[in-house]
Amino acid sequence: MTAHAPIAAPLDLRGQFPAIGPGWHYLDSAATAQKPQAVIDAITTAYARDYATVHRGVYQRSAEMTGRFEAARAATARFIGGQPDELVFTRGATEAINLVAQRFQNGTRKRVLVSQLEHHSNIVPWQLAGYALDVVPLSADGRIDLDAAERMASEDHAVIALAHVSNVLGSVLDAPRAAQIARKAGAALLLDGCQAAPRLPVDVAALDCDFYAFSGHKLYGPTGIGALWGKADRLADMAPWQGGGAMIDRVTFAETTYLDAPARFEAGTPHIVGAVGLHAAIDWVEGIGRDRLHAHEAALAAAAREALRAMNDVTLYGPDDSAGIVSFNVDGVHAHDVGTILDDAGVAVRAGHHCAQPLMDHLGVAATARASFAAHGGPDDVEALVDGLKRVKRIFR
Ligand code: PMP
Repeated sequence: MTAHAPIAAPLDLRGQFPAIGPGWHYLDSAATAQKPQAVIDAITTAYARDYATVHRGVYQRSAEMTGRFEAARAATARFIGGQPDELVFTRGATEAINLVAQRFQNGTRKRVLVSQLEHHSNIVPWQLAGYALDVVPLSADGRIDLDAAERMASEDHAVIALAHVSNVLGSVLDAPRAAQIARKAGAALLLDGCQAAPRLPVDVAALDCDFYAFSGHKLYGPTGIGALWGKADRLADMAPWQGGGAMIDRVTFAETTYLDAPARFEAGTPHIVGAVGLHAAIDWVEGIGRDRLHAHEAALAAAAREALRAMNDVTLYGPDDSAGIVSFNVDGVHAHDVGTILDDAGVAVRAGHHCAQPLMDHLGVAATARASFAAHGGPDDVEALVDGLKRVKRIFR
């Protein structure tokens, strides 16, 4: 490919990702991130040297592992500007949102305000919990229309639940404004931070939200671990969800009493090594700096958008300042065919509805292809994507 301008993507981190070999261009980090060696090492060490249960053991190693587990909680809370006792470990964002949907109550309010671009994880849990949904439309360039949200928000809404960054369009929410709207309506604001936590500096105090949900595996950490952050008073008002060990104060057959948050919401043996791995991932990300990561990914996404825009017959979705995510279609070619041909060219993109079927309906397409950039991305990834798309066009000419 002939690049239009040199791509100013400053980081050179690929060597830290052992699963990314030469000639393979991993552009599916929005689905799940590849792991840097530092995270793999932390997981291996936790199993090979340090492993024991947490919170219950009286022996030294268990006490040490408990220390590591709680240090991971503190680091995860700090990472998003929260306090450790406000940070509930979950399996991921999906479980975090389900927890809020099933246990948070806002008086008798039975409606939730979501947007047209939400991931199914921020739609279905509310439906399952019996809420009716109102849907905030999008602006022409694919942002959540907060003017419309302001008009729509009412005293019927228990929660306003919005993606901080869209997993399809990459659009970034003006979260403080969403918080003002929620506050005025007396609704709680839940932010789905799945795509934002790996890409943007996040400070829940500045965002002024009530709940923040995200997954470790998109943040260079292991699968099966994620977090729900909630304001202390919100969590204190929520009844236990799942019952079992580790969340109780005293159990009798007649009556059981429960621990306070966060333990109250963490029944059973937790994902101990998941938490340790997430801690390592957070240290790794902070060692690089989220501002730098964001700038790097945004530069690659901008270069990809520019190159794709210069190709005829390619439709781009989402705003130009998308956070590392570029969704597109090649006119007349199904996104799955685009994905398969790109795979032959060593370029891994996601093709499908991206768990956002209502957004696909809004865009009037069954699917899109999506290239998402991460810390290990480089100009060669953009070039390989463009070369692969030229191949698609040759095949379908
Ligand atoms: N929300 C968004 C915006 C996402 O991108 C994803 C993952 N694709 C989720 C929620 C669900 O995350 P998980 O499957 O890790 O629970």
